[in-house]
Amino acid sequence: MNINETSRNGIPFLTCDGFDAAGGVAHGFSTREGGVSEGIFASLNLGFCRGDDREKVLENYRRFTSAIGVDYEGLVLSNQVHGDIVRTVTTADKGKGIHSKGDYEADGLITDVPGICLTIFGADCLPILLYDPVRRVIAAVHAGWRGTVNGIAAKAVDKMVQIYGSRPEDVLAAIGPGISMCCFETDEDVPNAVTEAFGACALKHIQFQENGKFHVDLKGLNALRLEKTGLLPEHIAVSTVCTMCQHDRFWSHRYTHGERGSQAAMLQLL
Ligand SMILES: [Zn+2]
Repeated sequence: MNINETSRNGIPFLTCDGFDAAGGVAHGFSTREGGVSEGIFASLNLGFCRGDDREKVLENYRRFTSAIGVDYEGLVLSNQVHGDIVRTVTTADKGKGIHSKGDYEADGLITDVPGICLTIFGADCLPILLYDPVRRVIAAVHAGWRGTVNGIAAKAVDKMVQIYGSRPEDVLAAIGPGISMCCFETDEDVPNAVTEAFGACALKHIQFQENGKFHVDLKGLNALRLEKTGLLPEHIAVSTVCTMCQHDRFWSHRYTHGERGSQAAMLQLL
């Protein structure tokens, strides 16, 4: 499976061909392009808490949801805290975080209800979408390095299995645009936490640098963890986009030192 760029109504976005081939869902990963926000938020900012004009962000949501074919009224937003909580979303949650106040904190959302559009944010951190086309269950996860170490994507798969009866071999995963190994430079705290969580198999995803720093491959680590959870390697798509290398087209927290908007990943059962 691959993640490719497409566009509709002048709005570019990324999709996973495996999700499209399986059918039954609408989904997309946003870029910076195609919105109405201005200044440091130009132009497709989907984050409400970054200082942008709320009406412009809402218009960006209208444009983006229309482009990828999900329900604007059915949006349910995550309220991310770099934790490992995966929240089960029901019809009662529809609109939370955008049309009404969100009353939860969660870095992962999961549902089997058609019409609910799970929404995750990122700006270097990884958006990960999960889809079981057999049991008709979806999940969306935000994984920075802490979420990666905590295995939040694998926890979402576990929840798909435990609550909805999914089989891991049926689950498709799309790891979206985020900071890649080329740019994710860290001190030793990150590789230490990663090797503690993953063991020796993590080492191929960590590079020691001559300046004493490390480069860590969060995308590879999440793919590795999903495989350990029982997903088939051919069911895991990984975006080649590095948000920091391509900071002109994607929001990068590191490149902008936090003066930025947010991109989103959305997934909805049809
Ligand atoms: Zn890079």
